[in-house]
Amino acid sequence: MSSHPDRRLVRGFERALEHGELHMLYQPKVRLDTGELNRLEALVRWEEPELGPVEPSRFVPLAEKHGLIAPLTEWGLRTTLRQWHTWRNEGLETNIAFNISAVSLQSLDFPDLVERICQELEVPTDRLVLELTEGATQPLIKLMDTLTRFRIKGIGLAIDDFGTGFSSLMQLRQLPFTELKIDKLFVKDLPRDHDCCVIVKSMIDLAHGLGLVATAEGVETPEQLRFLRSVRCDIAQGYLIARPLEPDTLASWHADLEQRWSELTD
Ligand code: C2E
Ligand code: CA
Ligand code: CA
Repeated sequence: MSSHPDRRLVRGFERALEHGELHMLYQPKVRLDTGELNRLEALVRWEEPELGPVEPSRFVPLAEKHGLIAPLTEWGLRTTLRQWHTWRNEGLETNIAFNISAVSLQSLDFPDLVERICQELEVPTDRLVLELTEGATQPLIKLMDTLTRFRIKGIGLAIDDFGTGFSSLMQLRQLPFTELKIDKLFVKDLPRDHDCCVIVKSMIDLAHGLGLVATAEGVETPEQLRFLRSVRCDIAQGYLIARPLEPDTLASWHADLEQRWSELTD
């Protein structure tokens, strides 16, 4: 249902795309065995001139519904890969995770577009992991061909928000994922809640059994971090480690990482 405020927001978003009102933040993911930076997840931000910040969980679905997801994705990917270059020139080697709407995957030549952008901006495709969420109208299983094309190009695929919404075990078996992201809903009550501990440990075992990297998102406390390390989760992401960062603050965050990690894991 397209209500009046939605229409205004959509028009505002179109303007934002044209006038450069969007920007990207980058949230680090770290390896739980060594504490090293693994990659950065690019997250879009929109500051609407009158409303202030609008949440991506509000405007991304609107962009999907109103045919604006392609320009958002292309702008976001170019911005992110250009930023990757800047960091690289400054001596910071890292990898990128980028969120892709299931709507974009409907187009069979989308993998070629992503590859072309990587080539143009001289970013090796194996530096990139795409994070995908299954939507109500777009079961990922129908998108097998597109997903396989990404893997052939060396681009990694993560199943995001695993355990919520429409994600199913069947798609893990059939689709060429490289990483499983445990939703923050399950991480929130670790390690107090016995059931969450069992579920998270099982998801990690499941990921490993299928040869996937296990990542936990929404890590906010040292107790959660300790539990995830004890059950051999591979990667963690969350406010405890870093909030989504402005690109120019990454270097100083990175310089403190080793020290902070040793305090957190003492
Ligand atoms: P997501 O991909 O699951 O991203 C993780 C969300 O959790 C982000 O919210 C991040 O800021 C937030 N987060 C990270 N650490 C913590 C933590 O420790 N605690 C809590 N409570 N939250 C944490 P954000 O940035 O608001 O993004 C929301 C969703 O919007 C994302 O969920 C993703 O699905 C979508 N999104 C964001 N950027 C893009 C984009 O560029 N393109 C597309 N298609 N979707 C995007
Ligand atoms: Ca994500
Ligand atoms: Ca998520």
